[in-house]
Amino acid sequence: MAILSVILPFHNEVAGVRGLFRRLYPVLGQLDLEYEIICIDDGSSDKTFEALLHEREFDQRLKIVRLARNFGKETALTCGLHLAKGDAAITMDSDLQHPPETILPLVQKWREGFQMVYAVRNDRKTDGRLRRLFSLAFYRIFRTIGDIKIPEGAGDFCLLDRAVIQAVNALPERNRFMKGLTAWVGFRQGTVPFDVGAREGGVTHWNFFRLVRFAFDGISSFSTFPLRIWTWCGAVVSFCALAYALYLVFDTLVRGVDVPGYASLMVGVLFLGGLQLLSLGIMGEYMARIFIEVKARPLYFIAEQKGVDPEPHV
Ligand code: UDP
Ligand code: MG
Repeated sequence: MAILSVILPFHNEVAGVRGLFRRLYPVLGQLDLEYEIICIDDGSSDKTFEALLHEREFDQRLKIVRLARNFGKETALTCGLHLAKGDAAITMDSDLQHPPETILPLVQKWREGFQMVYAVRNDRKTDGRLRRLFSLAFYRIFRTIGDIKIPEGAGDFCLLDRAVIQAVNALPERNRFMKGLTAWVGFRQGTVPFDVGAREGGVTHWNFFRLVRFAFDGISSFSTFPLRIWTWCGAVVSFCALAYALYLVFDTLVRGVDVPGYASLMVGVLFLGGLQLLSLGIMGEYMARIFIEVKARPLYFIAEQKGVDPEPHV
């Protein structure tokens, strides 16, 4: 019988652990599949790990890994995919915002032959207004300048066939923007809709600055447009400057020297200064990411594990 790996990242989710498993098991029971549940404790400072160990007393199919510190959700998911033994894996949030019942249509779609199935949210009612606006802007920008297409409303709730798992595991980059990586590798992709649930206990880990950083991580991993745009800006500004210089020469020859012009001078200097700093900043962002890739540090360290083979399955 085929095996399904369910990958769950946890960061300070002790309040929701019991509720999650209570809803997950009936769903897994309905599937005509073997399963393993891979729980990644992403450096929680509460009793999440103990709660997971407690769950394992009832079900030995639970595999639990505690990362050495908080590496972030993308890295936790990467670790889960390294460990997954299944013919397919499902990644989902552990705060019950991704309803376990949606696993059924995901698996159904997989059986129809899709190798990468995204669960796409019906609406964003559970998000604040700022976050909704931000997501919309992100997907617009990403679609316009990114090299790949992410289905609108798709997140990290998805099913990956073994072929996709292997492809994603083979990607060496340290900046793991999972949504992008899964879309980039290709294969037959499908979607199923779902309604986002309310968060079951605990608090969200996002704030505005983290979101901005995450968004730029995503864009910079899949687009060089922010780097290239300065070539065009530079060309346009230079052209304008040349035209203005010609005008000034002409004007001086015809009307003589004209001293006033402080305002236009200041505007020019400040505008160009700002533009240069901005372009330098963007280059710095890319350079910082190159720096991280070049260092080639391991993505994560495992501090403790229960039920996991010592050798990750890469
Ligand atoms: N998470 C994680 N590491 C982190 C932050 C979050 O493993 O550093 C997990 C968290 O436990 C949850 C999922 O990622 O299962 C989504 O996090 P959250 O609910 O804060 O994000 P949101 O639903 O607001 O996008
Ligand atoms: Mg959540």
